Amino acid sequence: MVETNRTEPGGTESREKNLTVSDKAAVLVAQLAAGTIRKLGLGLGSNLPGRIARKLSPTVLSNLSAQTKKGVVAVTGTNGKSTTSGILSEILRVAGFTFAHNRQGANLVTGITASLVESANWASGIKADLCLFEIDEAALPVVAREVKIETVLVTNLFRDQLDRFGELDTTAKLISSGIVKNHSRAILNADDPNVSQLVPDESRFFYGIESVKEATVSSSNQELAYCSKCGAEVAFHNVFYGQLGHWYCPSCENSRPKPNIVAKDVEVFATSSRFKLQIGSSEEDCVLPLPGLFNVYNALAAATAAHYMGVSNQAIRYGLKEYNTLFGRSEKLVIDGKPVIVQLIKNPAGATQAVSSCVKDDKARLLIAINDNLADGRDVSWLWDADFEQLAKAAAQTSLVVSGQRAEDMAVRMKYAGYAADKIVCVPKLQEALELSLNELKEGETLWLMPTYTCLLDLQKLLKSMGVSMSCT
Ligand SMILES: [Zn+2]
Repeated sequence: MVETNRTEPGGTESREKNLTVSDKAAVLVAQLAAGTIRKLGLGLGSNLPGRIARKLSPTVLSNLSAQTKKGVVAVTGTNGKSTTSGILSEILRVAGFTFAHNRQGANLVTGITASLVESANWASGIKADLCLFEIDEAALPVVAREVKIETVLVTNLFRDQLDRFGELDTTAKLISSGIVKNHSRAILNADDPNVSQLVPDESRFFYGIESVKEATVSSSNQELAYCSKCGAEVAFHNVFYGQLGHWYCPSCENSRPKPNIVAKDVEVFATSSRFKLQIGSSEEDCVLPLPGLFNVYNALAAATAAHYMGVSNQAIRYGLKEYNTLFGRSEKLVIDGKPVIVQLIKNPAGATQAVSSCVKDDKARLLIAINDNLADGRDVSWLWDADFEQLAKAAAQTSLVVSGQRAEDMAVRMKYAGYAADKIVCVPKLQEALELSLNELKEGETLWLMPTYTCLLDLQKLLKSMGVSMSCT
């Protein structure tokens, strides 16, 4: 809730709000805290400064965000939040917008506050056109209570292992309440029945994939989704992956909404993709330096949000082309002179897509690293829902290295996937696994490294000690 500033003389409500004395103190102290945390090597300071600022001034988030001329854009959903907001930030940068962005991915209310406070000047506050926030699905209504969110972009809503307890419905309700609270403009994935049916009565715009050029589409792990009108299980004319595709309800007239902006003739390669972006009557040939249909959806989501924020088609196309990958999301590195692609995996849908990209590269070697720390999810049964079978079906089965605390579970998973048991090498220590994989890499081959979240953090430290920096370091 944005409150007017009553401590300043005059007290008249203006669009560009002044800050209260406690807001200013909160910014100052939180910035000092962030600086100290980094100086002492205690982390990125992406959350604690936010907590401190909120303690000192509970209105700091609402007052700072209310200073921006064009308001707040939120990106939420199960997969692709960081990549989508990263691509959107690139497009907005190309288009000449200034904005505050929680680019370190701390996406709960404290992380969002911390990032905004970092971008602020203690005396005058935020001087930016807008705020771009990646927001955790469950945190959206919490943030919406404090911040007027103009636009909410939703990527997708996948079931994960938690969904056995009905988490998906809860998440959908939380997102929908966040949108309704602010009467936000909703940018929704038409192809995901869990997303396109989220808010029936609000201002909605849709994006979707119209056609995919080749047979990149595997419907083997199609996921269930339901009609919000009659409760029947939806059917598909076309499935792209998971529950994403051209859906319809066989029991009533409900179906995939017609998208306002579409990607056509999508082609995905091992490390990039290409598609025609259709906005109204104009069509742009777009190249995206990211592989996988999931990234085409991320790009399309970002392009749609940018369009409704008034960005030109040319700036959208250029922003897509210029996008540099985020930390561990299809990030391309060179280690010891050898090419490595790092793709974070954290749930079945994401892992399936990562594997789909990898099998397109016939010079790929693979290292999969699985931990089961809290940030990875304690329960690794999701490995059984991801389509690792594709690897076993790929023509050449080279040796495959599995690592991390749950290396053995991953080895068992690959055996059941049909991978030759004598080709699976189990090396729990990540450093040894990486050394072995790099040593075995032949001229022309690329190492595909798929870590879970805390393996990715370990990898980042390991690479730092080898003099290779990943983004965000
Ligand atoms: Zn129906």
